[in-house]
Amino acid sequence: MWFEMSRGVVVSNLLGVHALVWAGGWSAPEVVEAISQTKNAGYDLIEIPALSPESIDPIFTKKILAEYDLKSSCSLGLTFDADLNNEDDAVVAKGEARLFQALDLVRKLEGQYLGGVIFSALGKYLNPPTLKARANVVNSLRRLAQAAQQDGITLGLEVVNRYESNLLNTTRSGLEIIEEINEPNVVIHLDTYHMNIEEINMFDPVIEAKEKLGYVHIGANHRGFLDQNGMIDFDLFFKALAKINYQGVITFESFSSAIVSKDLSNTLCVWRNLWDDNVALAVGAREFIEAKMKLAAMK
Ligand code: MN
Repeated sequence: MWFEMSRGVVVSNLLGVHALVWAGGWSAPEVVEAISQTKNAGYDLIEIPALSPESIDPIFTKKILAEYDLKSSCSLGLTFDADLNNEDDAVVAKGEARLFQALDLVRKLEGQYLGGVIFSALGKYLNPPTLKARANVVNSLRRLAQAAQQDGITLGLEVVNRYESNLLNTTRSGLEIIEEINEPNVVIHLDTYHMNIEEINMFDPVIEAKEKLGYVHIGANHRGFLDQNGMIDFDLFFKALAKINYQGVITFESFSSAIVSKDLSNTLCVWRNLWDDNVALAVGAREFIEAKMKLAAMK
């Protein structure tokens, strides 16, 4: 989306939607369904879940993306048997190998972004992180970031709630680890659903992240329809994005038991049917996000 406000304020962000709004897997018909529907709903980008990067056919996916003139990003969370946030070298090596596989996928899709819970397993830990496990995260992500730089790919660390990782639950903790990794292509990825659980409000973390904010997920507190009367103060969040002149991708994320992913639905505890009509959901979300952006740009 691109528009210029009367005072010369230019707003230009790619708007995306998570593929799980359309399809639970990535077979050829699902690729066509997800990409064509994303385009029809007026988005610029589709976020492809790459939890099993080897299950995605990059050549076919790239062809359909080009056909519909759509950009892509990839996201994943690690698993407990292939995790960086672990003291066991073998588990860390497996986690790192999966991330390099995902990076290779992004490269083949000519994408520019690999993000999500790439620093940790996506799930509930039973203990706090240890210093050794955290050091493994820093070292592995530094190697991944250096490899990603060669292809102009950015890595995003998605700060998530305490039930989905024990490591990065707040923007502050994300900024600290990015400083330790110390590579220019590692950014913070904020998600309003998680922020609503862990942050003090929807404004200050964005201001604190500033130019380190590189990717945004918009989700309702229940992860269903975006609604003016929902629990999250989106006006405040978009005001903060406008204040730091955020120019990055903004992706709508929503999950319902209507679309089931073998890899992701149970991990994210998608137990309820929050919608059936994904077209109305996605079009409504894009209109909601555009309206909030315009409102924030005018202030
Ligand atoms: Mn998210």
